[in-house]
Amino acid sequence: MPPVEKHLKISSERTGEEFRELHEWIDNPERKVERHDITKIHEYGKMIEEKYGEKGLQEYIQHIRDDVQAKFNHILYDFEKAMKETLAYFGVKER
Ligand SMILES: [Zn+2]
Repeated sequence: MPPVEKHLKISSERTGEEFRELHEWIDNPERKVERHDITKIHEYGKMIEEKYGEKGLQEYIQHIRDDVQAKFNHILYDFEKAMKETLAYFGVKER
């Protein structure tokens, strides 16, 4: 998943604000799992909107979306690498 600095840059480009406190809250190492839990978006979303407004709420959702995309890209990369290595191991040539 992108490090906090990457999220700050993405938010800055999108809104003109970093939302540093918000991104650091989401990626807090001790609370990372629960704060990326999509079933808690409603609960956390209300709290975040009260504190950071509608823009902050959007950045929270965007943070999770960007992490989902990065995670699945990583999984896909690892999968394709393992497929290639396994096929090569068995002498199967790529088509
Ligand atoms: Zn994150």
